[in-house]
Amino acid sequence: MSSESTGSRDFIRAIIDEDLKVKNYEGRVHTRFPPEPNGYLHIGHAKSICLNFGIAGEYGGLCNLRFDDTNPSKEEVEYVDSIKEDVRWLGFDWGERLFYASDYFGQLYDFAVELIKTGNAYVCDLSPEEIRQYRGTLTEPGKDSPYRTRPVEENLDLFERMRAGEFEDGTRTLRAKIDMASGNLNMRDPVMYRILRAEHHRTGNAWCIYPMYDFAHGQSDSIERITHSLCTLEFEDHRPLYDWFLDRLGVYHPRQIEFARLNLTYTVLSKRKLIRLVREGHVDAWNDPRMPTISGMRRRGYTPEAIRNFCDRIGVAKRDSTVDMGLLEYCVREDLNRRAPRVMAVLRPLRVVIVNYPEDLVEEMDAVNNPEDPAMGTRKVPFSRVLYIERDDFRETPPKQFFRLSPGREVRLRYAYYITCVGVIKDEQTGEVVELHCTYDPATRGGDSPDGRKVKSTLHWVSAAHAVEAEVRLYDYLFSAPEPGGAEEGQDFLASLNPGSLDTLQSCRVEPSLAGAEPGSRVQFERLGYFCVDSVESRPDALVFNRTVTLRDTWAKIEKGAK
Ligand code: ATP
Ligand code: MG
Repeated sequence: MSSESTGSRDFIRAIIDEDLKVKNYEGRVHTRFPPEPNGYLHIGHAKSICLNFGIAGEYGGLCNLRFDDTNPSKEEVEYVDSIKEDVRWLGFDWGERLFYASDYFGQLYDFAVELIKTGNAYVCDLSPEEIRQYRGTLTEPGKDSPYRTRPVEENLDLFERMRAGEFEDGTRTLRAKIDMASGNLNMRDPVMYRILRAEHHRTGNAWCIYPMYDFAHGQSDSIERITHSLCTLEFEDHRPLYDWFLDRLGVYHPRQIEFARLNLTYTVLSKRKLIRLVREGHVDAWNDPRMPTISGMRRRGYTPEAIRNFCDRIGVAKRDSTVDMGLLEYCVREDLNRRAPRVMAVLRPLRVVIVNYPEDLVEEMDAVNNPEDPAMGTRKVPFSRVLYIERDDFRETPPKQFFRLSPGREVRLRYAYYITCVGVIKDEQTGEVVELHCTYDPATRGGDSPDGRKVKSTLHWVSAAHAVEAEVRLYDYLFSAPEPGGAEEGQDFLASLNPGSLDTLQSCRVEPSLAGAEPGSRVQFERLGYFCVDSVESRPDALVFNRTVTLRDTWAKIEKGAK
């Protein structure tokens, strides 16, 4: 897939080009996407997925999906399933190449034994706390563990007994014997295995020792004969360790290349933080449409094409940066503009009676489904004496530059007639406008006046008797700060949660063509934005729409600017 992907020459593709030129890796390109199944995928992962699968596609290579499932205490089958669903939905196919690091536990154990035998690993009895103390700091070297010089035979015996379950959790570790004075903290005898009695989602209780990420990852890459192991920048300092393990083992050696992770304004892209949002109930679930997760974005109405296009546009670089959420929204609008049928819906209905329109007449107006794509055809929209328009589209005393309906003013109803407001009915108690009386000009049917009379605005509407009631959920950014992750030290990222991120409107009215709309289907509500039928809570007789993204709203801009 992704043959249409631009495949611009970023630094990673340049490295691969060079490798191919000098015939490294027998001219193969083989990447992998290695999620840890400890949460749902987010848009940052989409960047990595598009990069890994995209490169494999462009070079006629392969890309594996590998679950990095070395930490049973945080991992769950639910996450594995959601990750597979999300990668597929994004449009990528791992074919037969679905792997789990846990499939290699036996092999990894053998590798560890090998390193003990060659004097490159030892069993250490320091507690986790002591290991931390011995490690030193960025400015001070660490101290050798008193167990560092254990003879090979003793190490082999102890490691075997660790595996056999003779020791308590946390009482011993297997460590690589590298250099406690290294300037790189990752090289100060890192832990390779820990004792942990936890049931693993695939291996059950077969193991009570588990490999650490750094030991599992590179060796898994090697076992799968990956050529280019693409990961994010925080692993740059781990590369010497990645290389060290492979070199000491003398096995096939892939090349690790780091790129900058995606950061997006007004949201957080870290599973640790996303888990808190879910667990503490700040959102409904992982697939809450406000979440930056793939499943949340899918439910919100984003398309895989829009997300892939976004990933193409941001490209890959070596320096961290933050991408404006506006770019993602732009990509979604661009895609939905092409594909989403236009319909009319009124979110905050205001009743309009066309006083000179016959009581029982219903006309079928022809409406264009998508001006961007004539092939999408037209539909009929019923028009009758009582309509709803948007409350916002009427002002009793219109400010300057407000060109919509007001007393005495004439406007166009889309695909229908010109109408003029001739009366305003108010609630006697509250003074709230509850109904408008208007006249229509029968000669303007279809929306144009034969005498060339101009109106300054066109409103959407629905016929009261024919409209379908619906719930509509309007979403705003989940956080009100552009960089909630960058909250000052000690200040929780949750402090900048946006209390107005969800606005649920009941009793909205949508045109009758939407009756029974399929969950997941996407439309543009004219003048309001792109919407998607909620895939979880919408019912054919109780429709729920999620706003995917607004259209650019010129009036809101004017009003904001005027303040
Ligand atoms: P998080 O910080 O959200 O927990 P992670 O890196 O721990 O993310 P993994 O499941 O280990 O999550 O990630 C799988 C792959 O996706 C890794 O190769 C990782 O580098 C990449 N990845 C994760 N987050 C981003 C991001 N924001 N931008 C680009 N790639 C990412
Ligand atoms: Mg990780």
